[in-house]
Amino acid sequence: MKPTIAVLPGDGIGPEVVREAVRVLAIVRPDLECSEAPVGGAALRAGLPALPDATRALCERADAILFGSVGLPEYDGKPLDARPEYALFLLRRDFELFANVRPVRVFSGLEFASTLKPEIVSGLDCTIVRELTGGIYYGQPKEQRVVDGVECAVDTMYYRTPEIERIARVAFDLARTRRSHVTSVDKQNILETSRLWRRVVTRVAAEYPDVRLDHLLVDTAAMQLVRNPRAFDVMVMENMFGDILSDEAAMLAGSIGTLPSASLGTRTHARGRFGLYEPISGSAPDIAGKGIANPTAAILSAAMLLRTSLGDEAGALRIERAVEATFADGARTVDLGTPASSTTAFADAVIARLQST
Ligand code: NAD
Repeated sequence: MKPTIAVLPGDGIGPEVVREAVRVLAIVRPDLECSEAPVGGAALRAGLPALPDATRALCERADAILFGSVGLPEYDGKPLDARPEYALFLLRRDFELFANVRPVRVFSGLEFASTLKPEIVSGLDCTIVRELTGGIYYGQPKEQRVVDGVECAVDTMYYRTPEIERIARVAFDLARTRRSHVTSVDKQNILETSRLWRRVVTRVAAEYPDVRLDHLLVDTAAMQLVRNPRAFDVMVMENMFGDILSDEAAMLAGSIGTLPSASLGTRTHARGRFGLYEPISGSAPDIAGKGIANPTAAILSAAMLLRTSLGDEAGALRIERAVEATFADGARTVDLGTPASSTTAFADAVIARLQST
């Protein structure tokens, strides 16, 4: 059977960048079956739910999901289940996508796009692994109360050992394919969940004697990310710390338009692990329809998909090297400088590189 990819372009720049990623995939893996389905605002506008049944069914059958982005200004302020973003919430929940993996790379020639000094970010290549389905965003009780006439609110940070073990294994497995170094981030001087986190990660580390583990408090990690980000290889952390630090790390690369991500689930199949792959950015309504969005994040998300869900390391590397060479040739989209290529012209340059190698 042909490997099947569920392609969910979504809203705003989603369809513009995903189209280019699919063109790139077609060069590297012409055997893939890429089937497209509506999601988010695109589905709502057609009178369907944000995640239509047929779209969910396609995802069920697929080896992986290539996702664009969801979100349209006309739905701002509506309750979550009436907004485009609800589709992503459902996909994460129903496919148990517990591991969010975000590589942050500064390509040669793009050092000047960062707000940090080029000598700090030059050659940066680290990955943040964030626990995505537990912690303070989901723990109960989670509510607002009035106690003795005073308004108060509570959120609960809660972790179970198996949740920590499985995310730690994602980080250690990934580190083995890179520079064999994991930094686990917590707040063990204050939080009980962090004390459990550190104990469990240390225990899992014993299964990986070839990988170096160190621990960092989250406040120190936030500082080190802007002081000396190249010290990091793989960083692993709980949900809220990951939410914050992964956005901080994203800024090191200069443009949000270059950064891919994977959300990995518990499901595996013969070729690899099921996952959802998407640019880290949103639907960018300010530039949607102009044909100027940077397609790099979507193209690199497709490379991650090949590596992790289809076990195709060679295909992934081919795409990553073509993107790297395209930047080295001086091609830029509008978010990275001038003269700027259009979305399609940039992808054409990547494809030309692929065809010449
Ligand atoms: P955004 O990431 O869409 O845009 C932030 C800024 O980055 C904008 O100026 C945009 O033009 C720029 N940008 C983003 N991607 C780019 C690209 N590929 N090339 C060039 N520039 C790019 O964030 P936002 O404006 O806060 O959110 C817009 C919508 O997206 C909202 O509805 C939000 O809920 C949604 N959203 C969706 C996801 C997702 O689908 N995973 C993630 C974040 C936000």
